[in-house]
Amino acid sequence: MAIIRVPRQHSVNKVAQQILDALRTQGEPCYVLHMYHVSIDEGIQPRCHVCYDSIYKGSDSTLNCSNCYGTAFEGGIKGVYRVFGIFTDNTNEEKRSKKGEWTPDDRSVQLPYLPDLMTHDYVVRVETWVENDSPDILGGYYRMGTVKELSLRDGSRYGKTTQDRISSSAPISLLPANHIIRSWVPENALEFEYDDSTILPSLANENLAHPLEDIEVIQ
Ligand SMILES: [Zn+2]
Repeated sequence: MAIIRVPRQHSVNKVAQQILDALRTQGEPCYVLHMYHVSIDEGIQPRCHVCYDSIYKGSDSTLNCSNCYGTAFEGGIKGVYRVFGIFTDNTNEEKRSKKGEWTPDDRSVQLPYLPDLMTHDYVVRVETWVENDSPDILGGYYRMGTVKELSLRDGSRYGKTTQDRISSSAPISLLPANHIIRSWVPENALEFEYDDSTILPSLANENLAHPLEDIEVIQ
């Protein structure tokens, strides 16, 4: 006899919601810029009309294109969201190369499970906000490294899917003052809306099952 635990989506949703609440309480509001990426947007989003070369199938990165922010896709930015994140402090670790010594600003950030983000997306911190919830003084612009998704596996099912994601984190590094993405400034990006349609599949229509009904016995 094997006991197969039926996945309980409501328990995953609950932890994801608790992390979201914790980030809203302890974290700082910031902007995340989800960019266009070749792996998912090729053939869907038009290429940049300014810098993309269809013969060489690439863009001239020395152009510092403000139309696509170096993504080679028209517009460059797929989505801008205001979210809450917790940033670690800079480690002030000194690095050395042939050109000398420098201290990069490398940190990490923890973010909610949505929106979807990936390597080479950006995070923009805000130092101060004015009362009507709009940014006053911007902080650093950071590039995200590999985004790790934290998942909570529950029940017998294929794990690590969009259904069991509860939070995400990524190493981030401060961009130099001349980086083209720094020409982007937030205008009216609203906080990412965590409603039934944007997140947590099945949150909206799931009936909270009785604990004993969650266990399915197969003989
Ligand atoms: Zn371009």
